[in-house]
Amino acid sequence: MFLRFLSFILLACVGALLGFYWAEQHHASTLGIYLLIGTLISILMGWIWDTFKALRVISWLRQGDLGSAPQTFGLWGEVADRVRRLLRDRQRQLAASDQRLTDFLQAIQASPNGVILLDDQAQIEWCNQTAAEQLGIDPLRDIKQRIGNLMRDPIFTGYMSSLDVSHPVVMSGRSDREGHPVRISVQRHPYGEGKQLLLTRDVTALEQAEAMRRDFVANVSHEIRTPLTVLSGFVETLQNLPLEPADQSRYLALMSTQAHRMQSLVEDLLTLSRLEGSPSPGFHNSVLVEQLVRVCQDEAQALSAVLYANQSPQIFSVSWDEALQHAKLLGEPRELQSALSNLVSNAVRYTPAGGRIEVRASLSADDKLCLKVSDTGPGIASEHIARLTERFYRIDKSRSRDSGGTGLGLAIVKHVAQRHGASLNIQSTLGKGSSFSLVFALDRFSLS
Ligand code: ADP
Repeated sequence: MFLRFLSFILLACVGALLGFYWAEQHHASTLGIYLLIGTLISILMGWIWDTFKALRVISWLRQGDLGSAPQTFGLWGEVADRVRRLLRDRQRQLAASDQRLTDFLQAIQASPNGVILLDDQAQIEWCNQTAAEQLGIDPLRDIKQRIGNLMRDPIFTGYMSSLDVSHPVVMSGRSDREGHPVRISVQRHPYGEGKQLLLTRDVTALEQAEAMRRDFVANVSHEIRTPLTVLSGFVETLQNLPLEPADQSRYLALMSTQAHRMQSLVEDLLTLSRLEGSPSPGFHNSVLVEQLVRVCQDEAQALSAVLYANQSPQIFSVSWDEALQHAKLLGEPRELQSALSNLVSNAVRYTPAGGRIEVRASLSADDKLCLKVSDTGPGIASEHIARLTERFYRIDKSRSRDSGGTGLGLAIVKHVAQRHGASLNIQSTLGKGSSFSLVFALDRFSLS
């Protein structure tokens, strides 16, 4: 400011000097007037120059282009310089907050849950791809649309108009179809002035798991209640009625059957929970294929003798490829034995007296080991095959129970197979028989 004042004084002095010089040249008598005119002219020129520089700065500020700042000195040069620095700082801050916003939105986009931002009119301000897919919203086209106009589900409409936001609501998702349910949970979170955040979550798997848990508990309770009711009935009879010794021992035999049924059920349940709760078997334990097959043969013959006493006996055959004479399966011997025993016991229980049951260990062309249990039983209709490994799924409940089945055998077999990286293949023809094969990959067995 001082410099500006100094330059103004200098300019005035230069003007005065020029006026003096002009008066001398023209021998003017009124020196004072010439001095004044010289001073005024120089001040006017200084003012015009100053205004010109100010106009350049103003026109640059109007354009707002940082790159074309006027190169000028003095006060206006400094003004231009400071404004340029200020603008540059602002631009940097703006770019940084733009980047932060982009990162933030990308993070929300990557979220497995849906996010929708609603303004105070319940119009969509922004939504991520997950929410768009779950609710059938177009994240670009539907911006500024009222969510109530897009979502017509009465459950959703009721939830949006209620004051209670403490609980989420669950409704059908956009891709919900017959046989392919999709359930979406939506929760409102008010924020700011009348704005709302909607969080959506796919809870289909959760609901299915919950339904499975409920079914499982109901099934177990039902399976245990039946033998328990029978048992307590017999106990009451034995307590209250004076029975003949023959009747007494008949009742005790029936009670023992029911107790065994409960015992088998509890054992199978414990096996399943052990299979689910323990880590996958490693490769350091092993069992001879021949031993597996032989133990099954012994068990099957014993079971067959009990089930079909006084009827034509079932015919058993066990065999294995020459190459598998000394083959070992790598894994948990107890689990592998229980899987094959379950398959063989099913074959015995569902094949009528006089039928054939064959257990064969073979090496396939693609170097896989196959343990196959075939029978000449009633066979299984194709619509049941995919569901046989579900817990408690039975085609004929009373036949399964009468022969000591728990409905958990094939579920155990499937678990054991999965834990050993094997697959369970089921083939069956109604009226002709069935075959159940456990197929192990090369890394799960050794030939010597
Ligand atoms: P269960 O204890 O009832 O035998 P599983 O899980 O072992 O339970 O088998 C499920 C159902 O699959 C059985 O109830 C039966 O209907 C059917 N099934 C299993 N094995 C055979 C077979 N070899 N022949 C015919 N049906 C079978």
